[in-house]
Formats: sequence, structure tokens, C-alpha cells
Amino acid sequence: MAANMTQADVRGKRVFVRVDFNVPMDESLRITDETRIRAALPTIRYLREKGAKVILASHLGRPKEGFEAKLSLAPAAAALGRLIGTPVIMAPDCVGAETAALVDKMLPGDVLLLENLRFHAEEEKNDDAFAKELASLADLYVNDAFGSAHRAHASTAGIAAYLPACAGFLMEKELNFLGNALSAPERPFVAVIGGAKVKDKIGVVENLLTKVDTLIIGGGMAYTFLKAQGYDVGKSLLDEERLEFASAVLKQGAEKNVRILLPVDVVAAKEISAASPRRFTSAAEIAPDEMALDIGPETAKLFSAVVREARTVLWNGPMGVFEIEAFAAGTNAIAAALADCTGVTIVGGGDSGAAVEKAGLADKMTHVSTGGGASLEFLEGKALPGVTALKQGD
Ligand code: ADP
Ligand code: MG
Repeated sequence: MAANMTQADVRGKRVFVRVDFNVPMDESLRITDETRIRAALPTIRYLREKGAKVILASHLGRPKEGFEAKLSLAPAAAALGRLIGTPVIMAPDCVGAETAALVDKMLPGDVLLLENLRFHAEEEKNDDAFAKELASLADLYVNDAFGSAHRAHASTAGIAAYLPACAGFLMEKELNFLGNALSAPERPFVAVIGGAKVKDKIGVVENLLTKVDTLIIGGGMAYTFLKAQGYDVGKSLLDEERLEFASAVLKQGAEKNVRILLPVDVVAAKEISAASPRRFTSAAEIAPDEMALDIGPETAKLFSAVVREARTVLWNGPMGVFEIEAFAAGTNAIAAALADCTGVTIVGGGDSGAAVEKAGLADKMTHVSTGGGASLEFLEGKALPGVTALKQGD
């Protein structure tokens, strides 16, 4: 791989850029959040300035089979055109003669967006002939789709076998921030893990236990850990099958000298609803018919203090059901503490990222990752196929 996109000579070349334009849209096909498109702008602008012909490719949603108007990338082409101040050519497909003819007509600086890759089942199968056909459109492959790097698909992995390949700026930035945090964090290094499911984050917790000084566990995950310590958690989220895992984590923490912090108080209610009356209570006194839906104010204070003093903070997963204002205070407190922290602050995970955006604190973070699943797998210490593929040409 050309170590770096800036080392490749791209003038007049056709550059295939895998981006992540898997953006949310409303009923009338209006894009409701352009963050992912904006995140690809540095790479797109750079390539245009250098006189490349920029061919963009992405997936959008989960099409069943073939073209579906509501999963067309055309709205993304329009949004991108507005952001870069020049029309973006929308191709009717990502492969085929008509698309190839459009590419042939491109001039240096032109930007073309291929239609949704997943209109072809071969994309997700990492079909070799399909990867080769995508590659035939270009002279160079740039992967800037960090959010899809944990998938071995034709456009994220297979294609790299047929073209010189390198990472785009967004991909590099993601790998640098997440990679440095894991391999050479300034200490104290604090991880804050929350969200709903223990199952989803086992790998992350295991890997981080070997790296952090303090592990803070909040959100719906925390109650499996509290239960493992012998507390009654009422009707709070509980993963019975993973009580042993939780016990093992607590034990390892003690052995490895990693401080593990759990909620000491909670916001409890009988239903997950804004209308349900709330009760602030100690984590030891959750009633049998109650659910803990947020960390309590004491816990928020305790967690925030640790976060503020850290030199590196990694946050994945909200502290409560933050979608409902009545249970958002804990999550907002953690977001504010990261914003106050003068060390490196990294937010990974779709919902945590959304919480930070909603609090208006995104630009106070060192880095907000654009890749939910990909950042989780990275934090688990797994190799990402989309990244591995870039290295195979070395
Ligand atoms: P991320 O996308 O940041 O990785 P997750 O997807 O793992 O986060 O978890 C987010 C979900 O966890 C949110 O929908 C939130 O409502 C839920 N959640 C957080 N705390 C609790 C809780 N105490 N009980 C039930 N659900 C919770
Ligand atoms: Mg999520």
C-alpha cells in the first residue's frame, strides 16, 4: 500500500474512493444527518485539488435484491454537491457499461457517485468477479469508509487485490486516534463503557481490562455486574448468562490493579417512559418492580471527577436511556466531563456519538468516531478486514 494517500500521484488518475454515505433519511428521502458525508470531505477535496477523477462508492441500508428507489444514493450526491460547491455526477449503477461510459467521460476534478453497492448481492459476498469489475473503473483505490472496515465486502476488501490501495484521511484519522489510545495512552487512561447489552461489549471490556487504569461501567450493562456482586437489581436489564463473565471481570480487575467503578446510585422507574414516576435511590435499594434507567447524581459526580482527571478517556455507550430526557442526566454529565477533560477524549459508538452531538459538545472532543461497529471491533483488538486488505499489497 502506498503508506499514505499523499504519496500517490493522482493527477488525471481515476481514483475509486470507498466512502461511508450510509446516512439516515426520513420518509421523504431527506437526509436527516450529513455527518458521514462531511467526514469524507477532506479526502474528496484533496483528491479534487490534486486533479484526480474522484469515483465515490458506498452502501446505503439493506436492499433486498436489485434497485430500490428509496435506497438510492441520489440524495447523497445532491448533498455532497452542495457541500463541495460543484455538481456530483450520479451513476445509475455501480458497475456495467453505462457506468463505465460515464467514468470514461470524467475530467480531472470531477466527482462521480456510484449507485448503492448493495443493489448487487455480490458486494456483501465479497465476490471476486464483482470486485474486479469495480476495480476496472479506476487506477487507484482509497478506502475512507472506516464505518465499514469491519466487513470483508467487495468494495472494502476484495477490490484492494486489483489496484494500488491506500487509506483516506478519515480512515487514517480513525486508526490513529483509536490506535494511539490503545497502544500508547497518556495515563491515567479511563474507559467509560455503557449501553444496553453486555453481550455486545464482552470483547471490548476484556481487551480494555489489559490497558486501562480505570474502567467505569454504567448504562444497562452495569446491572449484570451489580447482580454479580450480590445486589438485587429488580427489573433492570440483566444478562443472566453473563453473570460469570461479570464476576470474572471484577476479579481480574482486582488482580490487575485496574479500578472498576459501578453505579452507587440510580434513577429507577417502573416503566421505560417519560410518564413513569422516577425515584432516586441507592444501587443497593432497587425495588423488585423497578428498573434502573440512569445512573444517579452521586454516581454522575463520581464518574465525572475520574473522567475530568484522566489524560486519556475512551467512551462507548450511554449511561442510561438517554433518548428520554428524564433518564439522560447521567449521559449528559459524562459528555460534559469529557468536554472538560484536557486530555485526549475519544467517543466511539453510534449512540454515544449521538448523545455528544445532542449535547452540542462534539467539537469539544478530541475525536468522535464515525464507525459504531468498526470502532467496537477495533477496541476489541480485532483486525479489521478493510484495513488488512490495504496492507496486503505491501
Ligand atoms: P453505542 O451505540 O454508543 O455503542 P449501545 O448501542 O451499546 O451504545 O447502547 C445504547 C442503548 O442503551 C440506548 O438505546 C439506551 O437507551 C440503552 N441503555 C442505556 N442504559 C440503559 C439502561 N439502564 N436500561 C436500559 N437501556 C439502557
Ligand atoms: Mg448503538
